[in-house]
Formats: sequence, structure tokens, C-alpha cells
Amino acid sequence: MPSPSSPILVATEIRKVYQTPSEEIVVLNGVSFALQAGENMAIVGPSGAGKSTLLQILGALDRPTSGSVSVGGVDPFTMNENQQARFRNEKIGFIFQDHHLLPQWNVLENTLLPALANGNPSVEVRDRAVRLLERVGLQHRMTHLPSQLSGGERERVAVARSLLLKPMVVLADEPTGNLDRHSAENVSQLLLEVPQEENTVLIVVTHSSTLAAKMQRCYELNAGKLQLT
Ligand code: ADP
Ligand code: MG
Repeated sequence: MPSPSSPILVATEIRKVYQTPSEEIVVLNGVSFALQAGENMAIVGPSGAGKSTLLQILGALDRPTSGSVSVGGVDPFTMNENQQARFRNEKIGFIFQDHHLLPQWNVLENTLLPALANGNPSVEVRDRAVRLLERVGLQHRMTHLPSQLSGGERERVAVARSLLLKPMVVLADEPTGNLDRHSAENVSQLLLEVPQEENTVLIVVTHSSTLAAKMQRCYELNAGKLQLT
């Protein structure tokens, strides 16, 4: 186990290069940073800069061409496929712009999704799901289907779900991108507060300068590198 002061998430010299028949596309060209428990950072940058690619590598959904990622002292790219799937499920919480909720499942069931990999959720996990939904203000929406919710409410389900299994790291890719200003502010507030209460590392890719300004650090991804803004 890492000591309390050692970083939870460390990215070291991450490069990502796509080889197309005509050219080599260098998307990430040496990205390094470290975040301690409870720390958060924003990543901004133009479309196509590689923000989603970086998040996918940090969450072990995609492999870097070179460089390494460490989460809680462990490099997910040294794991076999099963270990990696388990790692993603337990240590990483993902929040996407289009929230990826299952349409036929209600709010509580969608929130419990990460727990279903381990069979039926325990009473403790169900209680936690209910508490998280209360925390994001959805206590009256537990049995609603995603189609019966507003965009902001759907994103709030995604926030609760990302935290269900107490991950070390939450990665959010333009979580407020599809929301009106009022809903975006509401989701941003929860997105900043709830992981911090849980001492979880949070990285948010966003086009919102308001959201980015509220985070402890803000980096711009440009020409494959992160620069403090
Ligand atoms: P962002 O999220 O910042 O908008 P992305 O990470 O989605 O950017 O994409 C970064 C760049 O990588 C884009 O130029 C995109 O075209 C390129 N890219 C993504 N996937 C592939 C791939 N499989 N092959 C070639 N290029 C890719
Ligand atoms: Mg993107």
C-alpha cells in the first residue's frame, strides 16, 4: 500500500502515436503529472488535442505507445486482461458526456452497475448507492428510467455511479458538455464536492472555463503536451 502522502495517480512521459498508412500522428508527446488523494485537475484544449485519448490511457481503456501509468502504486498495463478489467471496475470511475446509462434500467440499478460484475450487490453497496443518490439530489428519482430524467439528472446519476465502489480515481470527459448553464453549474458543483469528500482523485476534461477555474489545477493539452494555464 502506498503511504498517505504518496501520489495516487502518476503519469510518466506518456506518448501516444497513431500510425496511419500515410503518416504518423503524435497525439500525446510526453505527458507527466502526479496527483495525491483528494486532488483534482482540469484539462482543457482544442478538439482533437488528445484529451479523450489521455483519459482513456489513464483509465487503462487504451494503451500508451510508451510511458507509464501508476494508480495506487500499480501499473495497469502490466496486468492480464481479466486483472485489467477488474482494475478498471474497482479503481477507476468514468463519467462521460453522454453518461452511458442503460435505458431499460432505473436510476438505482444504473448506479449499481459497477457492483454487478461481482454478482448481486450486497446490502452495504445498495445502501451506498442510495446515499450517493441522495447526495446528488436524486432521492426522489430512484425508480425513474433515464428517459424520464433531465440531462443534468442523468449526469448526476453518472457521478453517483462513478463513485459507487470507492475508486481511487474519477475520470470525467466533458461531463457538462450537453447541459444548459444552470444544469451544468449544478453538476459541476457536485462533481467537485463529492469526490473531494471521498478523497478521490478527479480529472475533468472540459470546455467550460467556469468549471476549469474551480479546480485546483488547470492544464491545457496542446501539441501533445500538458501546460499549466
Ligand atoms: P479530443 O478528445 O481532445 O477532442 P481525441 O483524443 O479524441 O481528442 O483525439 C485526438 C487525435 O487522435 C485526433 O486527431 C484523432 O483524429 C486522433 N485519433 C484518435 N483515434 C485514432 C485512431 N484510432 N487512429 C488514428 N488517429 C486517431
Ligand atoms: Mg474528446
